[in-house]
Amino acid sequence: MKKITFLFIILLVITSCKSKKETVENKSIDFALTYANTITTDDVEEHVYAIASDEFEGRATGEIGQKYAAKYLAGQYSKFGVKKYIENTYYQTIPIEALVNKKRGYASKNPSENVIAFIEGTEKPNEILVISSHYDHMGIKDGQIYYGADDNASGTTAVLEIAQAFAKAKKEGHGPKRSIMFINFTGEERGLLGSKYFAANPVVPMTSIVANLNIDMIGRIGKERPNDENYVYVIGADRLSTELHNINEKANEKYTKMDLDYTYNEDDDPNRFYFRSDHYNFAKNGIPIIFYFNGVHVDYHKPTDTPDKINLELLTKRVKLVFYTAWEIANREERLIVDVK
Ligand SMILES: [Zn+2]
Repeated sequence: MKKITFLFIILLVITSCKSKKETVENKSIDFALTYANTITTDDVEEHVYAIASDEFEGRATGEIGQKYAAKYLAGQYSKFGVKKYIENTYYQTIPIEALVNKKRGYASKNPSENVIAFIEGTEKPNEILVISSHYDHMGIKDGQIYYGADDNASGTTAVLEIAQAFAKAKKEGHGPKRSIMFINFTGEERGLLGSKYFAANPVVPMTSIVANLNIDMIGRIGKERPNDENYVYVIGADRLSTELHNINEKANEKYTKMDLDYTYNEDDDPNRFYFRSDHYNFAKNGIPIIFYFNGVHVDYHKPTDTPDKINLELLTKRVKLVFYTAWEIANREERLIVDVK
């Protein structure tokens, strides 16, 4: 009897040692790094070429090419196992009345769609990080397709790749603590119409959105930084939350090691980029945002913004920076503090 008890104790000690060791090993695994590494240049290349393809005809808001692009995005989310948020559909349909820009004399002939996908948080499902890009572009003019490979197949690819990485993490038991909503906006080129509609008709309370990381043009080298393959412009990060700025800086310091350029974040920047993409419809509601951007270049808003000119390595690296920042925002203990007024 004594012998058996003794053996039992030994066995207990051995198993407890083993499980302790496993926990220690688990802790030393950097899951952010593990899942960031699922973002590859091959995947990035595939999405950029698909989104900026002839078939999608420059993705003009309300036109058939934009519809095909929306279908492609929904198909990818479904394939990754990233769920719909709105019942039965990945689309937030926008009526034609909301697709008007009087200043520009623009009115869409057809309704259009924001594409929305969702990963529910494991611990704080009602705190939501929004990762976004616009997927519309300028369509066909004078018989020429405006491909918009950089503007904004690049950012839309980023959102897809980040969604895939978080979906894999979730599947393997490492899902984000907070929820993440992935949104591809329509109508951006007509005056931020898709994000304006979302902010006026949010599918979740705007107060539940902890931050918005918006990606618009990250696949090229801008004309102000010739031959520089290791930078990205960061706009807006510190305007509402010092923490957000610091998180992005730290993620870059630890992993991606790029030059973060804040030129366009200056209050008196004449380009006013802070107001010029979809993130502004979050920022104006007091939600901290970061706008990731490569700057303009010779092919900006021209039919020559084609996929062959995308720098796939640089694009992949920039996608990873957004992913690492998202990982921290979604998994940290406390919600981001808005401390700048
Ligand atoms: Zn754009």
